[in-house]
Amino acid sequence: MFAEVALSISTFQSFTYKVPSNLNSIAQVGLRVQVPLGNRSLSGIIISLKRSTSYDGDIKNIIDIIDDSPVFTKELWALIEWISYYYIVPIGKVFNSALSINISNKYKPQMSWYAQYIPSENKNQIKDLKKNAPKQFQVYKNIKKASPLLLKVSLLKSICSNPLSICRSLELKKLIKILKKDKKSITNDFSLHSEKKNIQYNSDQNRVINELTKSIDNEKFKTHLLHGVTGSGKTEVFIEIIKRVVGQGKTALILIPEISLTPQIAGRFKSVFGSLTTLWHSKLTKAQRSSTWLKINNGDCKIVIGARSAIFTPLKNLGLIIVDEEHDSSYKQDSPSPRYHARDVAIMRAKIENVNIVLSSATPSLESYHNYKINKYNYLSLPNRYGKAIYPTVKVVDLIKESEETGKQNIVISGSLLDKIENKINKNEQVLLIQNRRGFSPSVKCSDCGEMAMCLACKTPLTYHKYDNNLKCHLCGYIEFKSFDNCKNCQSSNLFYMGTGTQKVENILQKTFPQARISRVDHDSVKGKLDMVTILQSFYDGEIDILIGTQMIAKGLDFPDITLVGIINADLGLHMPDFRSSERIFQLIYQAAGRSGRGEKEGQVIIQTYDSENPVIKAAAKLDLNEYYKTMLEDRFILKYPPYSWITKIEFIGPKSKSVLSLSNKIRRNLLSKFKGLEILGPAACFKEKIKNNYRYQLVLKSLKKYDSNGEKLHLFINDNFIKNNNSSNGSNKINIHVDPISMI
Ligand code: ADP
Ligand code: ZN
Ligand code: ZN
Repeated sequence: MFAEVALSISTFQSFTYKVPSNLNSIAQVGLRVQVPLGNRSLSGIIISLKRSTSYDGDIKNIIDIIDDSPVFTKELWALIEWISYYYIVPIGKVFNSALSINISNKYKPQMSWYAQYIPSENKNQIKDLKKNAPKQFQVYKNIKKASPLLLKVSLLKSICSNPLSICRSLELKKLIKILKKDKKSITNDFSLHSEKKNIQYNSDQNRVINELTKSIDNEKFKTHLLHGVTGSGKTEVFIEIIKRVVGQGKTALILIPEISLTPQIAGRFKSVFGSLTTLWHSKLTKAQRSSTWLKINNGDCKIVIGARSAIFTPLKNLGLIIVDEEHDSSYKQDSPSPRYHARDVAIMRAKIENVNIVLSSATPSLESYHNYKINKYNYLSLPNRYGKAIYPTVKVVDLIKESEETGKQNIVISGSLLDKIENKINKNEQVLLIQNRRGFSPSVKCSDCGEMAMCLACKTPLTYHKYDNNLKCHLCGYIEFKSFDNCKNCQSSNLFYMGTGTQKVENILQKTFPQARISRVDHDSVKGKLDMVTILQSFYDGEIDILIGTQMIAKGLDFPDITLVGIINADLGLHMPDFRSSERIFQLIYQAAGRSGRGEKEGQVIIQTYDSENPVIKAAAKLDLNEYYKTMLEDRFILKYPPYSWITKIEFIGPKSKSVLSLSNKIRRNLLSKFKGLEILGPAACFKEKIKNNYRYQLVLKSLKKYDSNGEKLHLFINDNFIKNNNSSNGSNKINIHVDPISMI
C-alpha cells in the first residue's frame, strides 16, 4: 500500500511513501506519520491511501505512525482542504497551523489522581467512619475541606501511606469521587471574576432568542447577522442560546477577536457553564495547548471561547458557532501563512458541519451588512441598550480651532477634555482614553538640519519610548539606545519629538493630575496575559481612575463606571492609502463610544480631530450608522472595491530591488495576457517599502465579482501558476498571496 503524505513544509506538493507491512493494518487518512525526506526525518499527515502509484522514482518507507486515531474529524479535514484551495496555501501549512502544536511532538499528558467531595446527607455514615475507619475519616475530612476544588490524591501521603486505596474505599461508599486528570488541564484558567446576575430578558432579547432557538432546532446551516448596539445584551443572548445547544448534547464555538477581550467574556461564561467552558488563544503555553486540545477532542469540554485559531479546535457534534465582533480586523491572519479570515472560515465550517452561525457586531463589516441587504444573511437586531443605560453624548473638539484660539501648538489634550477629566475624577467616575499609537513620540526630527531618526533596514521613522529611553522600530523591532541625544547628521542636540503616543499621554496626565491613579494598556505595557488581566481587574474594581490605551481597549469591555471616553487623535490612520482605513476609524470611534455610560450614569465621549469636516468622523460623532453604511457602500461601489469586487494582493519580497520589481512585472504581464477583463494595479512599492533590508512590491488583482467566471478562473490560474509549478518562491525572492486582504498596505 502507498500513502500520499503532506508535510508541514512550504511546498504545494505531497509525497508518496510505501506503507510497510507491519503498519498496513493501522494506516488511515488523517493520521500523523514520521517520514524521511532527503536525510531529514519529518512529520506529516496521510492525505490518501492507494494500492498502486504512478510515481516511478525511489519510494521510501513510512518510518512510524504517530497517532492512534485521526487528529481531525472528517469535517475539519474538509475545512483544511478548503482553506488550502481558497487561500492558496500548501495543505501542510494549513494543518500545521490547525493543530497549532508542533506536529513532531507527541504530547503525553501528566495524569494524576484527584479526589472530589460529594455532599452526603447520611450523618450516621460519617459517624461510623469516624469510629471504625479513622484513616478514611481523616482523608475524607481533607477532601471535604478542599472542595469545591479537586484534591490531588498524592498530597494525602502525609496522612497515610496508601491514599489511593483509601480513596477507592471512600468512593465505594459514595462519599467521594476519584478522577484521573491531567495536571495542566486543571490550571489552564484565567478569567476575570464575574458575579452571577439576575437575568431578565427584555422584549428585543426575547425576540432574538426565539428566532435563534427555532433556527437551531431546525439543525441546518444558516448565517445570522446579529446587529446589536454596544450594551444591548448580546452576550446574555449568547449565553441563553448556548444553554439550549448544550442541553441538546451539542457543543458550541465562540470566536472573539483578541486576547484582551478573553478574560471578561470568559468570566461571564465560566460563571454560567463552569468547567464545560475552555479558553483557546495564542498565549497558551505548549503544554496547556496540548492538554486543552485533548480535552476538547475527547469531549470533556463543550464550549470553546477563543481567538481566531480556535476555529480549528476539534469540537465534535458541533451545534453552533458565534463570531463576536465579526467586523474586527484581527480575525484576519496576515502572517504567517495560512493568511485566512477566521470569520469567513467560520462560515465555511458552519456550512460543512451544517449548523447555525451568528455573526455579531455593533458595527457590522460592510461585507456582512451587504450580505444581509442581498438576503444572504438573516438579520437580527438589538437596537437599544439594555436597561436604563442610554447612549452617550458625543462632542467633537476641533484641534485646529483650539490651536488658533489659545495660540498653543501641538495640543495633545485639549482644554475641554482636561476639564471633563478633572470633573470625572472629582466625582469618582472612570475615564478611558484611546490613543491608537504606542510609544512616546512616533518620530524624532533634528530641528537644525531636518534629519529624521530612521530604521535603515525598514526605511521608517523610529518611535521614541520614554520609559525605556530608547528608539524602537515598530516594524522590525530594532532598538537604538542613548545615541540619539544628538542628530546623527549634524550633531545638533536640538531634537524635536513629533507626534503623540500612549506614553506621552500618560506622561502629561501624570503631571496634570498627580493624585489620579493612571494605568496604560498597550503592547509595551502588557507583555503577558496576566498583566492584562491584572490591569483590567483593578480597573473593574475601581482602583484605577484613568486608563489609557491603544485600540486594544476600545472594544468589547463592559465597565459600568466609565462615564468619559476620550479619543486623543481620531485622525490617526485616516489618510492611509487603504480603502478600508475609513471603516477602521469609524469602528474605532463608534466602539470606543460604546464603552461610555454602560451603567446607570450618563456617558460622554470627546473626539479630538484636526479634520472635523471629514464625513467619516462626522458620521461617527453622530453615531449615525445608516449614514455611514450608505456613504461607505456607495464609495466601494464606485471604486469597485469589496463587497462589489474580488481582490487579491500579491507581495513580492527580496533583497535586490531591481530583481523584485522585474519578477512582479513578469507576473503582471503573464496575468494580463491570460485575463482580458482583469484589472491589475501595480507593481507598486508597498506602503512599507522596505522591511529588514528586504524590498517589497505588490500587485493588486481586482475582478468584478468573486464568483463570476472570471473570478473563479483567476483562482485556478493562481493555483496553476503558483501551485503546480511550486512557484511560491523565485530565486531569493518570496511571493506572498493575500486572498481577500484586510489591508492594502
Ligand atoms: P453587549 O454584549 O451587547 O455589549 P452585554 O451582554 O455586555 O451587551 O450587556 C450589557 C450589560 O447589560 C451587561 O452588564 C449585562 O450583564 C447586562 N444585561 C444584558 N442583558 C441583561 C438581562 N437580560 N438581564 C440582566 N442584565 C442584562
Ligand atoms: Zn541635524
Ligand atoms: Zn526596522
